[in-house]
Amino acid sequence: MAANINNNMLEAILAQVRPLLGQGKVADYIPALASVDGKKLAIAICTVDGQRFQAGDASERFSIQSISKVLSLVAAMRQYDEDEIWLRVGKDPSGQPFNSLLQLEIEQGKPRNPFINAGALVVCDMLQSRLSAPRQRMLEIVRQLCGVADIAYDATVARSEFEHSARNAAIAWLMKSFGNFHNDVSTVLQNYFHYCALRMNCIELASTFLFLADQGRAPHLSQPVVTPLQARQINALMATSGMYQNAGEFAWRVGLPAKSGVGGGIVAIVPHEMAIAVWSPELDATGNSLAGIAVLEQLSQRLGRSVY
Ligand code: GLN
Repeated sequence: MAANINNNMLEAILAQVRPLLGQGKVADYIPALASVDGKKLAIAICTVDGQRFQAGDASERFSIQSISKVLSLVAAMRQYDEDEIWLRVGKDPSGQPFNSLLQLEIEQGKPRNPFINAGALVVCDMLQSRLSAPRQRMLEIVRQLCGVADIAYDATVARSEFEHSARNAAIAWLMKSFGNFHNDVSTVLQNYFHYCALRMNCIELASTFLFLADQGRAPHLSQPVVTPLQARQINALMATSGMYQNAGEFAWRVGLPAKSGVGGGIVAIVPHEMAIAVWSPELDATGNSLAGIAVLEQLSQRLGRSVY
């Protein structure tokens, strides 16, 4: 059943959700994020049959933050055998805040999943072991996936993250103490913060993640990004861990695999149909975009789409 989408419908959803602006809180752990205009609201959709839709501030770039954790996992899946990855990071939801240290101590330095900070840091450690220039390589991957040559890191955000890195450094050092972190901590933190500091807009995000809706294939690339099985696995991880401790609530309200970031972006996938990106910088108490979730909820209801 083809989805009946148009830009007016997306504008109507944004209008319906707009009254929520003011109820969340823009990330303020670094000044570069705290100064973002909280009233921004955007959506973009790319479908596997080549259609594109957008509404609101869809062409304005923002810090993708933890959405990048999906991209670093993709990069690792292309470098490592399956067993090598899942020996070092789990596949289960954590039920804890994204930057929690709690389970790491109990579970001997093995993070619950690749989408919490600990898991993403292990993945970045693995990339540092195999790639000669992990930051350059990530830029190449993203630019290739969305077909936009000027995607770049926000140097101010990356620097500011590094200056406020106590917690992520603690996570990395704790994993090092258990033998699950092999490279220099600062080097890997720098890579991780740069990935978080990628600046992209909703249109670019929706096209970048379209491969997850199309069994690992990106329409404009001759080689698959990942195998059909890997695409299914990534979607499963997004569905169970992409929204941190809010994964159950999000499954209830929206019912799609998704990944959020504290910049206020969320990418959601309708398997076999489309990739959706939404942006609204104000966050709820779990660090997910408050209005962004509401937009996705409205959209999934109007389209009658859910993986459940
Ligand atoms: N840069 C943030 C951090 O490491 C990313 C967190 C997020 O987007 N959830 O804390």
